[in-house]
Amino acid sequence: VLRFRRGAEDDETALLGAAIDLGAPLCDGIGDAIVLAGFDLPERALDLGYRVLQGARLRTSWTEFISCPSCGRTLFDLEETTARIKSRTSHLKGVKIAVMGCIVNGPGEMADADFGYVGSGPGTVNLFVGKQCIERHVPEATADVRLVELIRRHGAWTDPTP
Ligand code: SF4
Repeated sequence: VLRFRRGAEDDETALLGAAIDLGAPLCDGIGDAIVLAGFDLPERALDLGYRVLQGARLRTSWTEFISCPSCGRTLFDLEETTARIKSRTSHLKGVKIAVMGCIVNGPGEMADADFGYVGSGPGTVNLFVGKQCIERHVPEATADVRLVELIRRHGAWTDPTP
């Protein structure tokens, strides 16, 4: 069992600390359980614990999102677009979705994502299943819906619980 005790930092900083302290040994196969101490709310510690385990690929509890860091080539507001896509798809346990700013490097940097949303031109997006581009130059206004349809067609969609 690996242990992490939170100090005076906020939750997100504590998560970063826990990920650094616990993630490396977990990824090396050391330890199979973690204890996070020092959190006011036990649910918060549980939530962060799941996130650390998912980051180390030991347990999959949520959708996994991969975003590029964004640069001068980025063709849309990466943060806002990622938040929008997350709000539609964050209940899809175990599905990996990449949101990448451009087609120059995006497809190569999507790692092992199941689905990709990649900027292809001003106001347009290419949609991927794995490394394969399935829809080209989809207008941004309809791309979220088309991505959901694509996920559905490939059997990875479940309706969110109300
Ligand atoms: S994927 Fe494109 S936009 Fe994103 S960081 Fe790489 S080069 Fe820049």
